[in-house]
Amino acid sequence: MSQINASALADTVRKIVDSTPVLDMHTHIYAPAFGPLLLWGIDDLLTYHYVVAELFRVAPLPYEKYWALSKADQADYVWKHLFVERSPVSEACRGVLTILHALGLDTSARDLAALRRYFASLTVEQYTDRVFELAGVSSVVMTNDPFDDLERPVWEKGYPRDPRFQAALRIDPLLNDWLGAARRLKEWGYDVRGDLGPRDVDAVLRFLADWVKRMQPRYMAVSLPPTFALPDGSSCGTLIEKCVLPAARDAGIPFATMIGVRRAVNPHLRLAGDGLGRADVQVVDRLCTRFPDNRFLVTMLGRENQHELCVSARKHSNLMVFGCWWFVNVPSLIEEITRMRMELLGLSFVPQHSDARVLDQIIYKWSHSRSILADVLADKYRDLLDAGWSVTEQDIRRDVRMLLSGNFERFCES
Ligand SMILES: [Zn+2]
Repeated sequence: MSQINASALADTVRKIVDSTPVLDMHTHIYAPAFGPLLLWGIDDLLTYHYVVAELFRVAPLPYEKYWALSKADQADYVWKHLFVERSPVSEACRGVLTILHALGLDTSARDLAALRRYFASLTVEQYTDRVFELAGVSSVVMTNDPFDDLERPVWEKGYPRDPRFQAALRIDPLLNDWLGAARRLKEWGYDVRGDLGPRDVDAVLRFLADWVKRMQPRYMAVSLPPTFALPDGSSCGTLIEKCVLPAARDAGIPFATMIGVRRAVNPHLRLAGDGLGRADVQVVDRLCTRFPDNRFLVTMLGRENQHELCVSARKHSNLMVFGCWWFVNVPSLIEEITRMRMELLGLSFVPQHSDARVLDQIIYKWSHSRSILADVLADKYRDLLDAGWSVTEQDIRRDVRMLLSGNFERFCES
């Protein structure tokens, strides 16, 4: 076993982090079999909602006029205002350039037509292989919503599973709009009244079990507002306690909660219009304590919640903290959060997920995050060397594997 000396440390860590495959445990991308649900290519990248929110800070077009444009015209408009008329320094804009550069395209030419010609020359199957290879990602977990009318038929019909795309059963419509969901369940033949009595509970349990069987999800998931509380007498709380947690327990899978999103702060911005709020981390403590037989994957949107969440994770082995989500998925905050998690939790967390909505984004999200993770890890190993500890390449490989896939895998299986 070769020990690493201080001068070779940063390079060795970087090399290992860059070459260790990632299991990307939360995305919004789909296998090619889902057809138009899988977004990819330059126009989808330029019209990503992270970028669109930035467009409206500087562009004069009224919201409705922008939304009435074709996707290509929207992309032209974004390109003009955020890439040509000013430098694309934000994380979301920089991400587009990282992708193009990794694909070997000439970003210095600033030629959108040439970029479009490149993407037009590819098939989605070829491109998917290329993107996974460039991103160093072995598999991703999708976000699969049985209430989505485009997605549900693909599952009902069945499709040849691609092992690179694993499923997650997303149940936001069930928890956030119970009466709407109850109507749908009834249409689909479940015996639901809408009063959340014992008969409804049985029906929802059956619905969840049916979809677990169909999707084979790695976990069940929901995103929740910062006001989420439990117990609070709401239908959401009742459904979580009586249906979701028992169903997840029976299926032997974790329940993932993403807490802190304030929906439609500016509805004119559509998907780009959500904001964030500071949530109550004590609700996570209560869940972990009251339901010791459930496992909870938790990420929070507010920077202000990250420290408290780390402390909660120190108290509950059935809590796995994951990822830097959306507004905290920027380099300065990823670094701060990753460093803090490592200092409080050692290696027992999942440092990142991409949340990619467009296939190509797994390239930039992982390239940017890997670079930060390597820096933080190198600092921590340097501290160990300073204390006389020895660090070998095998140690680093083992630790990085835990962070990039092993911790998630083990938590799902335990
Ligand atoms: Zn997400």
